Amino acid sequence: MKTPKGTRDLLPEETRLFQAIEQRAIDFFGRYGFQEIRTPLFEETSLFIRGIGDETDIVTKEMYRFQTKGGDDLTLRPEMTASVCRAVVQHHLVGKDELLRLLYMGPMFRYERPQAGRYRQFHQLGAEVFGSADPLIDAETIQALIAFLEPYQLPNLTLHLNSVGDETDRPQYLAYLREALTAVRDQLCADCQRRLETNVLRLLDCKNPTCRQQLVALKPISDFWSAENRQHFEAVCNYLAQVGIRFEINPFLVRGLDYYTKTAFELLSGDLGAQSAVMGGGRYDKLLEQIGGSPTPAFGWALGIDRLVTLIRNQGTSPEPATDLFFVFGERAWLDESFALICQLRAQGFSVLYDPRVGSFKSQMKRANKHQARLTAIIGESEYQSKTVTLKDMAKSEQQTLALDQLASYLKEVLAC
Ligand code: AMP
Repeated sequence: MKTPKGTRDLLPEETRLFQAIEQRAIDFFGRYGFQEIRTPLFEETSLFIRGIGDETDIVTKEMYRFQTKGGDDLTLRPEMTASVCRAVVQHHLVGKDELLRLLYMGPMFRYERPQAGRYRQFHQLGAEVFGSADPLIDAETIQALIAFLEPYQLPNLTLHLNSVGDETDRPQYLAYLREALTAVRDQLCADCQRRLETNVLRLLDCKNPTCRQQLVALKPISDFWSAENRQHFEAVCNYLAQVGIRFEINPFLVRGLDYYTKTAFELLSGDLGAQSAVMGGGRYDKLLEQIGGSPTPAFGWALGIDRLVTLIRNQGTSPEPATDLFFVFGERAWLDESFALICQLRAQGFSVLYDPRVGSFKSQMKRANKHQARLTAIIGESEYQSKTVTLKDMAKSEQQTLALDQLASYLKEVLAC
């Protein structure tokens, strides 16, 4: 038996990287006022159709949609913004003139063609800010993300930025697109011919090379921006420049979801092959209304944790050693006598392991290495007789002998617990 196509097991070494990212996210974004929210893995299908858009690839091709025995039409979440908005509306989380910052992380499900970096179950870390239309919020939330990624020192990242306008200027752009693309209708794929009538903006996401050729000569959306939306975009750019964040303006970036208004952005990596997007996001001032809430401006992004982990691993960064101390015994009986001490050390916060089969000194040292132990505590004949332990620092290959009852305080000192 194997994992289903497009899914994978996260083995312990990779899971440690996931945990480190998730733990750091809670601490780091907490400083910006973000609080974590957890929603169900599945929702009523209509939420995603209404939220993401009925002509998007996600809704038309990629949803894990199923009917329950009770007849409910449910879908495994393909993303979480719609779910978070549903929760905000359902629980009245944002009052008038209030600002709410929410953080989420967890698995998402899309029935996509699997390839390197593209899974059917993948993981996102996301941030959403509700209650402000201020361009400072766009810039601050992007800045938070860039600062979060900084310690990983990922090379070849580019921030692409655009504004997709809103109901005041997008209709003019869509009318222009429809006219320009109807003229070349015969050159478009069947999906795009349909999109001409249903949702012309989605044509800009089409991966078909002949469709893409038709896009080259098109006017950018910036030619159609209203004065207010242009001002908003320029303000976001200015704030980002003020804090030294570099970006490229990409006038054809529209993102694959329908709910965006004004700012849209993506972070692309030159080190991920075809699946180069590390994260994406933008403003979605109309989504809460669209799913039955009161008008609430909002801004957010989602980061692909799987892809971030790939980039971190490419850098050769390995997680911290997992084990503080590994006990090595000359006799099985000496392990039995040390059992209480091992439990006490663990209760004091140290990670402590041993091999219950005991075996030869060599095989136990091998195990200590496998567990990346920082220290080994060797109890052989002479240590047992004198109630001492020989402590070996595995990285420095230095050793010293300590009284057993001093072990905890020594560990506290060197491991700074
Ligand atoms: P999206 O919700 O499509 O904007 O995706 C946001 C981020 O999630 C992307 O930039 C990717 O890093 C990640 N992502 C989206 N789809 C997948 C997938 N099928 N497999 C792995 N990561 C994905």
